[in-house]
Amino acid sequence: MATVELKKLLKIYPNRKGEGVKAVNEIDLSIRDREFMVLVGPSGCGKSTSLRMIAGLEDITGGEIRIDGKVINDVQPKDRDIAMVFQNYALYPHMSVYQNMAFGLKLRKYSKAEIDRRVKDAAEILGIEDLLQRKPAALSGGQRQRVAVGRAIVRKPKVFLFDEPLSNLDAKMRVSTRAEISKLHARLASTMIYVTHDQVEAMTMGDRICVMNGGDIMQVDEPLTLYNQP
Ligand code: ADP
Ligand code: ADP
Repeated sequence: MATVELKKLLKIYPNRKGEGVKAVNEIDLSIRDREFMVLVGPSGCGKSTSLRMIAGLEDITGGEIRIDGKVINDVQPKDRDIAMVFQNYALYPHMSVYQNMAFGLKLRKYSKAEIDRRVKDAAEILGIEDLLQRKPAALSGGQRQRVAVGRAIVRKPKVFLFDEPLSNLDAKMRVSTRAEISKLHARLASTMIYVTHDQVEAMTMGDRICVMNGGDIMQVDEPLTLYNQP
């Protein structure tokens, strides 16, 4: 199980003027075990910064991040039980699909047999068994994003983070990949936090939706409750 709690989470980026840019303004958010939480809002509202702080890719200016009640502020990114999928896939171009998916496990000293099992299981779940020997350059955008998701799955993390994973895909591929991520959520029963600026994605995917604006949380509700508001 995994709950994620943000308590007075604050991010101020330094700037030349000295007072800094407040990107995330002491937000409080509790994400339930196995919940699919969508962070939605206009460009620049602090969604990505929030996600990157949870992943440990961005220093925290203030506040706390807790997973299952434990503060993880000082835990190294690679030691967090969290995997993240990026908008631009972030695959290693010189590695095969297999090596891309295996890399994080190798880094964490898993045995070859265990790595092989996990990579093949993930490839089967995502329907990319036939692509394992290819390089990223030989894949379509949709296939690359499946590999990026596969690289997250093999870690079997408690928490998945998605940062606008569909925004580089064409409309048709967006719809099918969106459905696949939803299916994956049901199958893996893990906690997922998903960032998008797309209302339709938010409404169709979220168990709950957290609406951000200007570094603040405006509202947290289920899709139907949000949708039926005047
Ligand atoms: P979103 O993901 O909602 O588009 P971001 O979290 O990327 O928003 O950005 C929030 C605010 O922080 C914006 O004002 C943005 O310009 C600023 N920002 C983001 N990253 C940096 C950075 N590395 N340095 C300085 N300011 C940044
Ligand atoms: P490295 O040279 O970095 O160790 P390899 O390309 O040798 O990486 O791959 C690591 C291991 O995974 C090797 O034992 C290799 O045989 C195995 N491997 C690579 N691709 C596949 C695949 N598609 N199916 C099964 N095993 C694979």
